[in-house]
Amino acid sequence: MSDADTTEDPGELRTPIVAVLGHVDHGKTSLLDKIRGSAVIEGEAGAITQHIGATAVPLEVVSEVAGNLVDPTEFDLPGLLFIDTPGHHSFSTLRSRGGALADIAILVVDVNDGFQPQTEEAIRILKDTGTPFVVAANKIDTIPGWNPTADAPVKQTYEDQSDRVRSQLDEKLYELIGELSGAGFSSDLYWRVQNFQSNIGVIPVSAETGEGVPDLLTVLMGLAQRYMKSEMEVDIDGPGAGTVLEVVEERGFGTTLDVILYDGTIEQGDQIVVGGTNDPIVTEVRALLKPRELSEIRTEKRFDDVPEMQAAAGLKIAAPDLDDAMAGAPVRVVGDKDVADVVADVEAELAEFAVETADEGVVVKADTLGSLEALANAMAEAEIPVMAAEVGDIAPRDVSMATTADEDKHRTILGFNVDVLDDAADKAEEEEVRLFDSDVIYQLVEDYEEFVEAREREQK
Ligand code: GDP
Repeated sequence: MSDADTTEDPGELRTPIVAVLGHVDHGKTSLLDKIRGSAVIEGEAGAITQHIGATAVPLEVVSEVAGNLVDPTEFDLPGLLFIDTPGHHSFSTLRSRGGALADIAILVVDVNDGFQPQTEEAIRILKDTGTPFVVAANKIDTIPGWNPTADAPVKQTYEDQSDRVRSQLDEKLYELIGELSGAGFSSDLYWRVQNFQSNIGVIPVSAETGEGVPDLLTVLMGLAQRYMKSEMEVDIDGPGAGTVLEVVEERGFGTTLDVILYDGTIEQGDQIVVGGTNDPIVTEVRALLKPRELSEIRTEKRFDDVPEMQAAAGLKIAAPDLDDAMAGAPVRVVGDKDVADVVADVEAELAEFAVETADEGVVVKADTLGSLEALANAMAEAEIPVMAAEVGDIAPRDVSMATTADEDKHRTILGFNVDVLDDAADKAEEEEVRLFDSDVIYQLVEDYEEFVEAREREQK
């Protein structure tokens, strides 16, 4: 079985899942590209495995990329699985039972730009979910005088050249983490990281030149091995558990699910339960798909069928009746259990996202469960009542819902990261329902508040 390469007999230890967060333009995408690129260049051909929505870097490749820093014989975790979509939007969407799906995060901070609002927001999210993280101090190639030679260890050069940057990071991290956790910490480089819980490693990197990427991989691997091994112990052969990354229309397959599997095994033909906009969906896996190697894509066929997949992995599930599936929702293989019990489990998990609604208020829509929750929280903070909250594009029936509001200012739909269906836009115009959409939560709240204020001024 070709897919066994990254998950082959890991001794019931799965691959740690890594997410990348940070402020816009600080280099999250570039860093992921560089990690993939380095792994491809350094590793044996095909040694890194492209998953759906994620990239697996096996231990041997981490070790090759990291030079002599990682001795593969000292590790028994299979490698690292990087979620391909960076940012805290996807991070919040990717939840597993009650917590974050990612085991470890990389917080990317541009050394020139320092801590920015989304950096701080990311730290809060990481603290709230209890997700351990390391800081990648990125763009070190832009530090004046930065001129590393092949022989000069990054640490030495970095310390010589960028004390200023480091002390800013120290200060900011201390402010945010010292205060939040009450724990002492040192932001010195990883080899000084003594206690993972209370010390944050700062690793200088350049996503442009690749400097520091080996160190970053080494730190991640080391921390996972040293402090998270017990959390990686899974029942590999047990029923699969995962989270929907995205619901995707795929030619030839109909509606499919891109899923990150974090526990167990999923097989073709398995009965599964998936969280949906209405009741949980009970269906049967028709096909499990993984991306084809780029070199193999000559025809339109973009995926390969596999008989089974083991955690941790990113895969596409083709199955009937997936139209109502929600991004961010749980996916469970039924296995030997009672379907009703698994349905109840999925319902219980979905209940964690339940948004408090009132009889009177606006209608909100968002693209994933995680973002719906974040939007609902922002509305609650701004004291804007919500009458209905759902995952999905803005549809005519949302407009009908909004027309039932008594107060005119509540005849409004706020959509986060969603499309407005054509007939919904027409209907909204007819019914005088206002639509606001944005891909920034606070923008939506602000737009709505401005509209309400303007309207109140008019009425005076
Ligand atoms: P994201 O929004 O956090 O995903 O940031 P991007 O990866 O898109 O990077 C934003 C910009 O910074 C792009 O123009 C990148 O080329 C540039 N960039 C990212 N990392 C580095 C780096 O290490 N050095 C330099 N000089 N530029 C970088």
